[in-house]
Amino acid sequence: MATQKDFSGYTGTWCPGCGDWGIGVAIKSAFVQMGMDPSSVGVVFDIGCSGNMNDVLNAYAIHGLHGRSVPTAVGMKLAHHKMPVVVIGGDGGLYGEGGNHFLHASRGNHDITLIAHDNSVYGLTTGQVAPDAQKGYKSKSTPQGMIEVSLNPLALALTQGASFVAQGFAGDVTALIELIKKAIHHKGFSLVNVLQPCVTFNKVNTYQYYMQRIYTLDHSYDRTNYKLALEKTQEFNEEKYPIGILYQSDRPAYHEQIAHLPQDSSLRERPAFRDFGLLIDDFV
Ligand code: SF4
Ligand code: MG
Repeated sequence: MATQKDFSGYTGTWCPGCGDWGIGVAIKSAFVQMGMDPSSVGVVFDIGCSGNMNDVLNAYAIHGLHGRSVPTAVGMKLAHHKMPVVVIGGDGGLYGEGGNHFLHASRGNHDITLIAHDNSVYGLTTGQVAPDAQKGYKSKSTPQGMIEVSLNPLALALTQGASFVAQGFAGDVTALIELIKKAIHHKGFSLVNVLQPCVTFNKVNTYQYYMQRIYTLDHSYDRTNYKLALEKTQEFNEEKYPIGILYQSDRPAYHEQIAHLPQDSSLRERPAFRDFGLLIDDFV
């Protein structure tokens, strides 16, 4: 059985105190506790400080580009249905440049797990605002405050069809391990949005800030209630942050639906090169 050491690569380059350290420990612990080994899980890293977990985590992995980690992961899952596939990225890459991929992966209910490091900034490029920051957030790129409304990742995933929507906190590794395990175990698209203090460039959303505003969803919360989950996602606007699984349904995953499509052998025929040439002729 694999241990933390088997999943460990080089020493991380994150700033001391960065929330990424806690997320890294939680991911490795979840993999070990699920009985995985580095060759039984596919990991796709996005760009940014979160993507630098590529140095730290030893697994079958690809370091993707801005937000393109998501379709890469979808392709891995379609090629190998039984392999758990995990995307590790930041809010800049996944919700900014990769917003398109994020919403379509939600729609498809592709059976991948997104672990999003939500720190409201682009940390690696020294602190420009990310789209999910609070409106009015001041940064290098928004010196007078962010003008646009905030992108709400939990609401976006939920309304676009994600079947598992959760939120964790980098300062509570024990709870985060459990969330990540449940997300990977879930069949379908799972989002774990992790509130992750960037201690160097974000002086607003600190550990103290979150510890005063987070609360855990208890056993009385009904995670199958879509309308209730939608209400919970709106608490972000009041700077309240529920921790736990906001929503979970058993909607079939994309690859499971493919398996049930009627067989049509004509679809398997590849167009001959000659026919392709005729097609091109039509356009010239
Ligand atoms: Fe972490 Fe921010 Fe440093 Fe990046 S810049 S390693 S997100 S503290
Ligand atoms: Mg970020």
